[in-house]
Amino acid sequence: MSRSMEKIVALCKRRGFVFQNSEIYGGYNGFWDYGPLGTALKRNVRDSWYHDMVSAHNELLKPEAAPSRFQMVGVETSLIMNPQVWKCSGHYDLFHDMMVDCRETKSRYRLDQLRCRWVVFDGETVKQDETGAELSKVMVTSTEEDFDADLTAEALRAFGKKKKYADKLQWDGPTTTLDTIDVAQFNQVVAPGASKAGTLTEPREFNLMMKTVIGALGTDDDAAYLRPETAQGIFVNFKNVVDSSRVKLPFGICQVGKSFRNEITPRNFTFRSREFEQMEIEFFCRPDESSGWYTYWRDRRYQWYQDLGISKDRIILRDHHAEELAHYSVGTADIEYAFPFLDDGEFGELEGIAHRGDFDLRSHIDGKLTKNAAGELEVELNEHGQPKYRGSGKDLSYFDDQAKERFVPHVIEPSAGADRATLAFICEAYHEDRQPDEKGAMQERVVMKFHPRLAPVKAAVFPLIKKEGMPEKATEIFGALKAAGLSCQFDQQGAIGRRYRRQDEIGTPYCITVDGDTMTDGTVTIRDRDTLEQVRVPADSIADEITSRLNS
Ligand code: ATP
Repeated sequence: MSRSMEKIVALCKRRGFVFQNSEIYGGYNGFWDYGPLGTALKRNVRDSWYHDMVSAHNELLKPEAAPSRFQMVGVETSLIMNPQVWKCSGHYDLFHDMMVDCRETKSRYRLDQLRCRWVVFDGETVKQDETGAELSKVMVTSTEEDFDADLTAEALRAFGKKKKYADKLQWDGPTTTLDTIDVAQFNQVVAPGASKAGTLTEPREFNLMMKTVIGALGTDDDAAYLRPETAQGIFVNFKNVVDSSRVKLPFGICQVGKSFRNEITPRNFTFRSREFEQMEIEFFCRPDESSGWYTYWRDRRYQWYQDLGISKDRIILRDHHAEELAHYSVGTADIEYAFPFLDDGEFGELEGIAHRGDFDLRSHIDGKLTKNAAGELEVELNEHGQPKYRGSGKDLSYFDDQAKERFVPHVIEPSAGADRATLAFICEAYHEDRQPDEKGAMQERVVMKFHPRLAPVKAAVFPLIKKEGMPEKATEIFGALKAAGLSCQFDQQGAIGRRYRRQDEIGTPYCITVDGDTMTDGTVTIRDRDTLEQVRVPADSIADEITSRLNS
């Protein structure tokens, strides 16, 4: 973990953003709890998403850049669904990662999580690696603390099979070049002390769905799964929404909620957790208009993070290579952020935007689909020539009454993680600077520069001293801010400079101070977190002033 990530994690605990789950019992790997400020921050992330994607959307007005007008509605479906859903969606058979265990350390790894940097040179030429040592053919380095050379070699072979990592690595040759890794030399040069060969189990598949049991008998027939994504709750309700809501294509159905994955190696703070929250849109459209909608959502979602303060330097929109695409996907792009726990130049996924064609609705009509030799989707059959997993048999097609056509709509899916977005906003907000205190001495300052919409506390009210009517006046102002629906804090403890620092550290955009002048001319100071500018405004207009600043 990089230095700044350690500081961010420490701040999250110290100020009540994120706590280790069940901490008093030593924690529970892959699970996290949000404290009071983290809860408020994450709620603001979720609410901003829902507001911007659904509530503020007006289907009578066409947003700029959208191919046409469209409707957006929400659903809230349950965490546990009929197990047949997961059989038809493909999760039951296909939602797995490759896993290996190290026999020596008993550690468990997801193969493609081992981030390795490697360079394939041009065969015979001798090059120098970063350590200055001379290598021929291949140089491999690992960023893992618990580095294991064999495991890395194994991972590289897995990388070789999965070309999706090609552009993250410095790929400069055919896959077969992987076999030229000289592990012995690699061990000696790059990883002295790496564990010996033969300590790894064979890679095996591991289904990521969390199993549970429904009903009193607890037999295998009662097995159910906690949903690994919220999307399927939307697909299975497609017909219900069409029949009950008078929606017409194109339209989106949105859902925010918890998902669960039995991640093999949860890591990097909340980035990869076993319980997390997703914010998903399934956008249904005519097949002939789907490409335009894919581009629209891809760009719109990329912009959303930037509108909420993510710097353009730290966020990328990465189109998947053809080999990286899921078998049903016509196009997929990831929005990725330069999290501080990653190496320079590396990015971690915040959101995926996928053009899923008619795969999902067709799977729930006919049964689990697979690709045939001609590259077309067809129902997967069992050894008796029957559908391997039967679909619902329900008609999930749509009748376009203008075109007088019936078809299965295509789907564009922007699928975001609320926890990953929250973590990115936390990382982006973290700043250190030096500012003069009241006596002019320079002091270190930690300031969370949250976008005002996301800041968990919008304003803090301070009486300068605890007498001369100032606490009473400050309480009155605090009440007015609360009545205006603003989340705010009251603080009368300690020197004013320390009170500012406390608010800076949690990202409060505005601090309001009641002082001697307030008692004579009725004005208070407002201090801006980022510019440190202080201006005097009438105390009785403070709620309007803060509201208008937050909305500007
Ligand atoms: P990754 O490749 O990082 O495992 P993914 O491609 O499997 O992610 P999706 O299935 O596309 O992820 O899920 C959509 C979003 O849900 C992701 O972009 C991410 O923001 C969030 N998400 C997925 N898995 C996790 C997790 N284990 N912890 C936190 N958020 C997650």
